[in-house]
Amino acid sequence: MAYIQFLGAAGTVTGSKHLINLSGDPSGRSGFQVLIDCGLFQGKKEWRERNWQPSPIPPREIDAVILTHAHLDHCGWIPRLVKEGFRGPIYATAPTIDLCGVLLPDSGHLQEEDAAFHNKRGSSRHSPALPLYTMQEAEESLQYFRPVEFSKPVELRPEFSFQFLRAAHILGSSLVEITLRKNGSQRALLFTGDVGRVRNNQIAPGKVVRSGPAEGQSADLLVMESTYGNRNHPTNDARPELARLIKLAIARGGSVIIPAFAVERTQKLIFLLKDMMDDGEIPALPVHVDSPMAIRAVDIFLKYADEFSDEARQLIAKYGSPLTWNGFFFDTKVEDSKKINQSRFPMIIISSSGMVSGGRVLHHLAQRLPDPRNLVLFVGFQAPGTRGATILSGAKTVRIFAEEIAVRAQVAAIEQFSDHADTTELLTWLRTFKKKPAVTYLVHGEPEASSQLQATMNSELGWKVEVAQWMQKVGM
Ligand SMILES: [Zn+2]
Repeated sequence: MAYIQFLGAAGTVTGSKHLINLSGDPSGRSGFQVLIDCGLFQGKKEWRERNWQPSPIPPREIDAVILTHAHLDHCGWIPRLVKEGFRGPIYATAPTIDLCGVLLPDSGHLQEEDAAFHNKRGSSRHSPALPLYTMQEAEESLQYFRPVEFSKPVELRPEFSFQFLRAAHILGSSLVEITLRKNGSQRALLFTGDVGRVRNNQIAPGKVVRSGPAEGQSADLLVMESTYGNRNHPTNDARPELARLIKLAIARGGSVIIPAFAVERTQKLIFLLKDMMDDGEIPALPVHVDSPMAIRAVDIFLKYADEFSDEARQLIAKYGSPLTWNGFFFDTKVEDSKKINQSRFPMIIISSSGMVSGGRVLHHLAQRLPDPRNLVLFVGFQAPGTRGATILSGAKTVRIFAEEIAVRAQVAAIEQFSDHADTTELLTWLRTFKKKPAVTYLVHGEPEASSQLQATMNSELGWKVEVAQWMQKVGM
């Protein structure tokens, strides 16, 4: 019997990898095998170590990858899959491919830096410490990407076709709808990837991408994310709180450090900051976007302006390219980054990674966390076990570059910018389904979030819902 196997993002929010095997043959050799997403495990060590285990399915025997979006917890293991022998096509939307073209080589670069750091200090159990993949290996993996338009069915086999539907999570993000045909009958499988916010811009003021997830779905089997399965986002306007926090930090003579995903989240933030400065809600401060990929990221963001919400598009039309704004600096070289550290004047620094798991934000935090005048502001989900989650939890110290750094700066989070539907929004979307799935598997959630959402969907919708387990195989 054909089956799905959950190879990642089961029991945790990272490492998304779901295998579809049409033959039912556990070796995979005799039949068609597709991987939906191929993400990195991040956060807790027990999960990260799984990035180093060989793929449970020989990569050569996987026929294709279908990628929902460009977040590393969904795409960051692709270079490793290729390194281990995968040679099939990787289907994704054009914006997702552009984003991966920037993010995957950067991920390889960070892993090389990490390995070099541990080798210098002798702080790895492995000698020498090796990167999971290099920047060059990440670049080589890009040759397997194939662009697919939204809502355009692609047939990979007479019995297997798929299409991408807008998920409204980040630029290019999609749900994957799969149609299986057998003996004249057909069945629909829907993999959500990450689900974006609802259509209402009042309810989701941080929403960037144009439309909410497609309404009126029909699915026989649903595999859905559950990141916010046990809570709802605040629905008030984020601007007053953002202004209050920034002005407080400036009054103390401090700076604001915002760890943020380099593409889209960062651009949305700088447009918002520019707008708030022009409206006099916050003083005009220097804003440093410190990321080696910052300029390419701005270009990708502007290239796909059609994909954005009216509000985001109006801001783009009003202010043009951020690369031309006075007082906004795009620091792409290491020397630029070092200069920021020498300045003692209040400024805003936006730098990746968003969960402080790597990247230049580490240098800024190592330097500025011990100073109580500064503000560290989180604008995205912090997966358990990441440095971001540690800092946000109120820990007195955090380990950066093998040193315990004192956390004395003010730490705050603004959740309105979230790109994930919360529980109420997920239920709102599910209620529009034309056909109730025979079974729903919840993935991409911490255990409490997934089990809470399972209970809520049981009681509110009367659906049959299971929480997916790592390595579990389910028939279909
Ligand atoms: Zn995502």
